[in-house]
Amino acid sequence: MSSGTRIVLLGRQGAGKGTQCLRLSRHYVVPHISTGDMLRAAVREDSALGRSVEKTIGGGGLVSDELIIEVVRGRLNKADTQQRGYILDGFPRTVVQAEALDLIAQDLPLLGAVDLVVPRDLVLNRLSVRRVCRDCGANYTVTGVVRSPWSCDTCGGDVVLRDDDTPDAINRRLDLYESQTAPLISFYGGTQRLHEVDGVGSQDEVFDRITEVIDRAGGGS
Ligand code: ADP
Repeated sequence: MSSGTRIVLLGRQGAGKGTQCLRLSRHYVVPHISTGDMLRAAVREDSALGRSVEKTIGGGGLVSDELIIEVVRGRLNKADTQQRGYILDGFPRTVVQAEALDLIAQDLPLLGAVDLVVPRDLVLNRLSVRRVCRDCGANYTVTGVVRSPWSCDTCGGDVVLRDDDTPDAINRRLDLYESQTAPLISFYGGTQRLHEVDGVGSQDEVFDRITEVIDRAGGGS
């Protein structure tokens, strides 16, 4: 079995998955695999994949299980993942995807799924002030000072409002989370791989809670 951290981060949109995954990926030196970032990059590149998913993403819907499973299969076969492991963000999002992941990752089995728990009313507030770097995915919060153009402190990319961070698309994504993604809690709970972490608190507090769970699960080695 390969060493390294191999985890999935679950949680509502705006729960802080993206921010925590970036930190975890640096801390454990493991690739952060965000399916949302991969799809948005494909849209920017205007590739065949990007063209096929652009409308779905903009409207806050889910792309087909079949398509996203192939995208993740390709990514998990890359050398960095094979050697270091993976931190999956945004995948799996349905039970079908979770079952597929168990098959794809047979040689690199998942150590656990961390569910970052933040109530819906709190994430709605967070999403309304969220801005995201188009290039590296770093998250920012609007504080009232208008920064135009706004460049990312990490990579210099454009910091923008995501197309799907409009009120309608946000509500659609949160509804889909309840119907499609929340069942993953039972899926991983039923196989003793679920770790619930309180996602309310400072970024440092939440990070410490997550690393404690990962280290206990044996993913910090
Ligand atoms: P969020 O979790 O905030 O909705 P992501 O950045 O994870 O955002 O994903 C953005 C969009 O990409 C999703 O709304 C969906 O359209 C698509 N997407 C990403 N991952 C998946 C997935 N595993 N299954 C289906 N669609 C996905």
